[in-house]
Amino acid sequence: MTDPFDGWKVPPVGLTGSPLDRADIMRRDPAAMIALRSRPDARWLVMEDLKPVLTSAEQPDILWAYRSDVPHDALSVFLGLDGEAPRFAAAASGADLVSDFGGRIVDARVAASQLPDGRAAIIAQARSLLDWHARHGFCAVCGGKTELGKAGYSRSCLACGAEHFPRTDPVVIMLAIKDDMALVGRQPGFPKRFYSALAGFVEPGESLEEAVGRELFEEAGITVRNVRYLASQPWPFPSSLMVACLAEATSHIITLDTDELEEARWASKDDVRAALAGTGEWLAPPPLAIAHTLLKAWVG
Ligand SMILES: [Zn+2]
Repeated sequence: MTDPFDGWKVPPVGLTGSPLDRADIMRRDPAAMIALRSRPDARWLVMEDLKPVLTSAEQPDILWAYRSDVPHDALSVFLGLDGEAPRFAAAASGADLVSDFGGRIVDARVAASQLPDGRAAIIAQARSLLDWHARHGFCAVCGGKTELGKAGYSRSCLACGAEHFPRTDPVVIMLAIKDDMALVGRQPGFPKRFYSALAGFVEPGESLEEAVGRELFEEAGITVRNVRYLASQPWPFPSSLMVACLAEATSHIITLDTDELEEARWASKDDVRAALAGTGEWLAPPPLAIAHTLLKAWVG
């Protein structure tokens, strides 16, 4: 039997392609980390309230700050090496930086859509990590205070010694396909005319394939088989890993769970092409989102 998903190509995925070497072996070596922080070519991405400071140029870039510009007590995490040059992120007030360097504080989602993909991936890494630290000052086991370890990739409890690691929450996002039509839907909170691929968090004790089947059935009453993985994307709001999948629908009758979806519809390739081009009767997700990639892969 031929595989209906053979020959699919994956278009570029937003928020991926970081140029940094994460150099995780160095995170475990406090002396190496002190040496890296002291290097003259060490730089910091500063985030205020999880918003990155960018340059004010017409085509903005990350404003890489010197160590002397970052407040001494700012929470700082190691992002990796750009060639040999160490790169860190710091949660700090950006006000002084902005006045000193002429940079500007930009919402992370807006920044990610303005920066080239590799740079957007750095924003994603920094935002997820700094957000995790901000939420995990206390131990989930005993309630004691925790302190940063492994250059930002763990927190240790000062009371019971438990070690905690940054979390990544998998979310399946999928296109059910039937008779050359794809299922798209809109959640109640979506902007007007906006439709996307259906999505949902993977639950404990569940495979990706099972999560795809469950979500499509729960939200739209659609049963599927032949679930395939296409691509994945970090989504740092705050810490999701979007896993894009395809599935063959075995039914086409939509039964909506109206708590989850306001509407769902079967879209033809022409409908999807028009939506991606902004000329259709509904609007598709922007290029930053992996739903865009998924729809683009389907129309070829
Ligand atoms: Zn503890």
